Amino acid sequence: MPVLLYHAVTDSPGRHVAPFSVSPAEFARQLDLVLDAGYRCVTAGELVRLRAERAAPGRLAVITFDDGYADFATAALPALRARSLVSTLYVTTGWLAGGGAREPGPSDPMLAWSQLPELEAAGVELGAHSHSHPQLDTLGRAALDEELRRPKQLLEDALGHEVPGMAYPHGYSGPRVRRATRAAGYGSGAAVRNALHRPDDDPFAVSRLMLMRGTTTEQFGAWLAGVDGRSGSPLAGWATVGWRAYRRGRALVRRRPGSAYR
Ligand SMILES: [Zn+2]
Repeated sequence: MPVLLYHAVTDSPGRHVAPFSVSPAEFARQLDLVLDAGYRCVTAGELVRLRAERAAPGRLAVITFDDGYADFATAALPALRARSLVSTLYVTTGWLAGGGAREPGPSDPMLAWSQLPELEAAGVELGAHSHSHPQLDTLGRAALDEELRRPKQLLEDALGHEVPGMAYPHGYSGPRVRRATRAAGYGSGAAVRNALHRPDDDPFAVSRLMLMRGTTTEQFGAWLAGVDGRSGSPLAGWATVGWRAYRRGRALVRRRPGSAYR
């Protein structure tokens, strides 16, 4: 099942997000490919509910966005609405405009708190993406809890209902982060594995396919055809553990957000 991950949808991205942005024309083309391939789009929350009910209603896809770039409302949403497609948007609450002091982040314009209710009314499911976008798996327990609980509370106060979805910044999680995410009251956690989501996957490790500026139509078509790069080799898991240890060491030396905001 393809769970797509977008960041900015714009022809003029800032430097940090540029490699992770797609143009509005490319975005529209990709949405049409999803529909042409016979997929029905659901939100991430619906996906988790359907899984829990063990329902299998045909070919499902999920379209997600991370961070909360302002162009979601002006570029992505019109293309989604024109095709009657729902989506899930995970916002970094400390980056949203109109909410007081902002956490350090991308220079690109971000969505405002005041826009969230109208996005919801337009078929967008909102979820959390931490408050300040740290690499969660490098944080101590108190900081980790704060980064999970604060955005949930802020979003629930703004929207007036429960917010059960979370996406890990940079896609980094691990068993400890997933346990803390569940303990903070979430029902799912979205990661980035550049692999298709399988029905028996952990709902706190939902695999997403990240759309980059360089993602080719061939690659996108392969994903829609059910082909991904998930390795069967046990070495892939060990490589991830090693990379996490390296990043954790670096984060201790240099306590600051990742250099690439995504
Ligand atoms: Zn992000």
